[in-house]
Amino acid sequence: MDKTSSSFVSSEACTPSSAGNAEVQDSPRVDRRTLLKSGAAATLGLSLGTSTWQRAHGKEGGSETEVRSYRKLGRTGLEISDISFGSSRLASGEDVVRFALDRGINYFDTAESYKGGRSEETVGKALAGVREKVILASKVKCEADSTRAQLMQALEGSLRRLRTDRVEIYFNHAVNDVERLKNPEWGEFIERAKEQGKIRFTGISGHGGLLSDCIRYALDQKLVDVMLLAYNFGQDPSFYERLTRSFDFIAVQPELAALLARAKREGVGTIAMKTLMGAKLNDMRPFESDQGTFAQAAFRWVLSNSNIDALIVSMTETDQIREYLGASGQPKVRSFDVALLERYIGRHSASTCRQGCSACYGACPAGVSIADALRTRMYAVDYGDLEMGQREYASLGEPASACTGCSHSACTGSCPFGLRVDSLVRDAHRRLSSA
Ligand code: SF4
Ligand code: SF4
Repeated sequence: MDKTSSSFVSSEACTPSSAGNAEVQDSPRVDRRTLLKSGAAATLGLSLGTSTWQRAHGKEGGSETEVRSYRKLGRTGLEISDISFGSSRLASGEDVVRFALDRGINYFDTAESYKGGRSEETVGKALAGVREKVILASKVKCEADSTRAQLMQALEGSLRRLRTDRVEIYFNHAVNDVERLKNPEWGEFIERAKEQGKIRFTGISGHGGLLSDCIRYALDQKLVDVMLLAYNFGQDPSFYERLTRSFDFIAVQPELAALLARAKREGVGTIAMKTLMGAKLNDMRPFESDQGTFAQAAFRWVLSNSNIDALIVSMTETDQIREYLGASGQPKVRSFDVALLERYIGRHSASTCRQGCSACYGACPAGVSIADALRTRMYAVDYGDLEMGQREYASLGEPASACTGCSHSACTGSCPFGLRVDSLVRDAHRRLSSA
């Protein structure tokens, strides 16, 4: 992607130091009090006061953060909040959904599989009566052998739970194999559902290995109006280019940037997800200040890419929404942001599986999908949502089941980022298997 054509870095630009870390040049200095609150206090295990948080969250003085930018979603004509509502971990909490709506969020993303349908039920109940004001998206996995009738049945189930007669966008969920996109039943189902007014637009969501292959095929075959894709600073070549003095750059998805630019040219809307690269938010709290939080920095990075229209993030608490919307309308990366993101990479690079990466594809002679196994482990370990991890792991057919009896560990060393793949996949199966 051409970051030079977008608002890549604000005038508060940073320059790499000899250690590869950004020097904060123009940002306001963090005073001793703030440092004590944001760093030393946390290091000592003390509870932080709320004033730093209130400043970062825009709450000080009684004001609330809210959506400050709506972005066009490709050629659809829809305009959605730049930071929108993801509900993959929402099993209840209509008040949270309504809080988001009241803050200006108008795009709500869910799926039939999220929390066994409870996510759709919660969103539907919360938004009953304001349907015309919001844009709804849901998803179903179209497998290589799914039929039109099965897909229509799934859509109708989603509409029932969402208490509506239509969704604006219906995604083929979590595509990880081009064969799934070749199923002609999907196209015929979509055509029928559009004729019946049950959906307006269609697309794919993807965060597994082979993501670039799936995007290219979907664009070539004109299968998509919108794409919901894993994208974060940790996948972005331009992020690593800043750090070459201290990190060996490895392109996670070397073709992704060009594919995003192509999608933009062709009027396909793009929404980013998995923007927090594992979302180990609590690890970063000691380093945050009133200049921003790690999440806000990560969002500004994503929104600075002019080929990305908007992002979604899982929202389950009102305080999260306050924090997240602190970055709305801010498509410029600040020097403070870069320092936080670098710190995150430095702490988690060797333990975080990159979404959409295919570098270890084929390393396992038993055909284990390492990326899928580690993504589901991430839900359980990093998100703290064991139920979600177990459900996703089961839906993939327990991809690491072969690992428990494996003695050769052919996958060891297959990850260019240094992840201990063999122990992580075994751990995934141990945590997530129903056996
Ligand atoms: S384990 Fe390493 S190589 Fe495999 S998908 Fe994750 S980051 Fe990529
Ligand atoms: S531990 Fe064995 S079965 Fe599991 S991914 Fe590695 S090589 Fe494959």
